[in-house]
Amino acid sequence: MSSSEITAATESVAAVDAVRAGAVRLDQVTHRYGRGGEAFTAVGPVDLTVPSGEFLVLVGASGCGKSTLLRLIAGFERPTRGSVRVSGTEPRPGDTAGVVFQTPRLFPWRTVRGNIDLALRYAGVDRAQWPQRRAELLARVGLEGTEKRRIWEISGGQQQRVAIARALAAENPLILLDEPFAALDALTRERLQEDVRLVAERTGRTTVFVTHSADEAVFLGSRIVVLTKSPGTVALDLPITLPRGDIDAEELRSSREFAELRAQVSHAVKSAAAA
Ligand code: ADP
Ligand code: MG
Repeated sequence: MSSSEITAATESVAAVDAVRAGAVRLDQVTHRYGRGGEAFTAVGPVDLTVPSGEFLVLVGASGCGKSTLLRLIAGFERPTRGSVRVSGTEPRPGDTAGVVFQTPRLFPWRTVRGNIDLALRYAGVDRAQWPQRRAELLARVGLEGTEKRRIWEISGGQQQRVAIARALAAENPLILLDEPFAALDALTRERLQEDVRLVAERTGRTTVFVTHSADEAVFLGSRIVVLTKSPGTVALDLPITLPRGDIDAEELRSSREFAELRAQVSHAVKSAAAA
């Protein structure tokens, strides 16, 4: 092999690795809680491949196993059967993905800055870079000027923004969000949806977002997977072809295509829950 051939081969390996960063692959995954006669199958079998950079939304009725699936991808749980791979390897809890939960898990007595800095420290970011990284993260989630405020002093929507900034701090190629806006008022929820859509777009990270709302799913997803009732399996796998990029959110939400997709997903969720 000539040196240029070797260079080309090395580059193509690097390109494959870049493509796979943050990609998720579930093979015949089943998850059971408990043992013996008490065992309860919460999920599966599920086969699912999420390519790098995709925004996948998992939708399904309460109790169908959405959070379990997300925890399996994060590595918080190990599957009873089958395999979970993120970027080609077994997920490691706290390391593989940035995770945002329904209620933000923050340190309420600390400031916004203190909470972000803890995430930067945990991510191993050099201390000299903290001010710049912190400013970037806060700007990205629309929290400029709140650094010195304590978590208990800011609104629920702002707290969820801090949680998203923390999840982004680690620079994982994969972000997992579990019904992060369920407890927020409608207006705040819509604003945060717009921001998350934009953040995903700009950072190009692979995102898996769990919700029970068809409306939220269609607005956010580049692909929607509807789960059956427990044990959750894939009932519908739908690519979303709505325009991404710099679009007017109001226009999108009021378009006919949006309404049609929302009706389709809503119907699929209801029939999957009833089946
Ligand atoms: P979802 O997020 O879709 O509401 P979950 O993944 O939380 O669903 O739960 C799926 C099923 O597994 C539910 O019936 C729930 O009660 C059960 N389950 C969840 N976590 C546990 C656990 N730690 N031990 C036993 N059962 C659990
Ligand atoms: Mg859940």
